[in-house]
Amino acid sequence: MSAYHPLNETEAIEIARKLEGVFQPDAKLACREIGDGNLNLVFHIADPAAQSSIILKQALPYAKVVGESWPLTLDRARIESEALILEGSLAPGLVPNVYLYDPELALTIMEDLSDHVIMRQGLINGTRYPLFAGHISTFLARTLFFTSDLGRNQQEKKLLARSFANPELCKITEDLIFDDPYRDADTNSFDESIRDEAQALWNDGELHLEVALLREKFLTHGQALLHGDLHTGSIFITPESTKVIDPEFAYFGPMGFDIGAVLGNLLLNYAAREGLDDADAEREDYRAYLLNSVTDIWSQFEAKFLALWNESGVDRMANSAPGYKENYMRRLLQDAIGFAGCKMVRRVVGLAHVADIDKLEDAAARERAQRLALRIGKSLIKLNRRVVSIDQLTDAVHSAS
Ligand code: ADP
Ligand code: MG
Ligand code: MG
Ligand code: MG
Repeated sequence: MSAYHPLNETEAIEIARKLEGVFQPDAKLACREIGDGNLNLVFHIADPAAQSSIILKQALPYAKVVGESWPLTLDRARIESEALILEGSLAPGLVPNVYLYDPELALTIMEDLSDHVIMRQGLINGTRYPLFAGHISTFLARTLFFTSDLGRNQQEKKLLARSFANPELCKITEDLIFDDPYRDADTNSFDESIRDEAQALWNDGELHLEVALLREKFLTHGQALLHGDLHTGSIFITPESTKVIDPEFAYFGPMGFDIGAVLGNLLLNYAAREGLDDADAEREDYRAYLLNSVTDIWSQFEAKFLALWNESGVDRMANSAPGYKENYMRRLLQDAIGFAGCKMVRRVVGLAHVADIDKLEDAAARERAQRLALRIGKSLIKLNRRVVSIDQLTDAVHSAS
């Protein structure tokens, strides 16, 4: 099999069979395509008799969104597999193992994580993950620190950044997160019942200034290798284990964008509790758990990142300039909070929504959740440059609720 074409299930099985050391040559393999088919095909291939299985993910040469289709580079399969391998070496155990990358077919074969659940669904179900804050703060601290100028030789970092330029996928983020929600763009999509909220976003100059500043950081601040799409749909989880998947948006950008993605998605679920929990006590309990997770993730991230810096910092000036570390960490927190807000706003009025809120069947509860997510998101965006402590995030969420 050679030139690129989207695989069918029979072809996927033939490729998987050739992988060394995974399946017996005569194994009876079963294959299902389990992706959502908008950007990529995801095949689950298993030998039920031997209880062995793998995932084969293949990039499609176009993105399909609400009936429209535009071309999208297959090179993102390389970026995804290279990012997974690098993340796996920096944060062992926190991403799936990669078994094979085939550039011609734009496919990656990786560890099957079907014994985990997608975290967005886990949170919707009201499951608690006591180890998550520890795991994700390690993932963030180690991947971000060791790909930044603080933890890696600067010439090496520049060369690495070149191979993760990723202009086409960055453009999607630039438009869908940092532009379209703030104007009456065709790509936007929202319930008619909250048109007043959408119009308020389009006419809020103070908000536009903050979003323009955050957008500028996303465009220009090549601080570290980001995952680039670190929402709760890109995290596989159990109460014991956390695995980050789907880094096809990886590029060198501002660290706060990845941290903010995690925090913003926990807060989207916080807003969705409006319709997910029937009893007030249950809702308040779970919201307290989510907010605790948010502060815990930041605190643990900060402690781990600083410990790495103290042990392994490679930049003399950054290591020794008085007050620099404190200033750096404060700016990271500010960025994380600003980007968390941007992530929330786009998920309510922009092109791609989240199931936490969209799947709420009670229209009144859904509308309350959408308005709450927008209140929290806007207040985080407006607050970002004034933040000195994570407690200000908690206060902002409480005032918006
Ligand atoms: P996309 O980039 O198209 O969003 P993802 O990598 O997020 O693709 O995968 C889409 C879905 O495929 C996931 O939500 C999950 O259900 C399934 N999937 C992806 N990777 C794995 C894996 N390693 N193990 C098990 N299922 C997976
Ligand atoms: Mg998808
Ligand atoms: Mg995905
Ligand atoms: Mg993806």
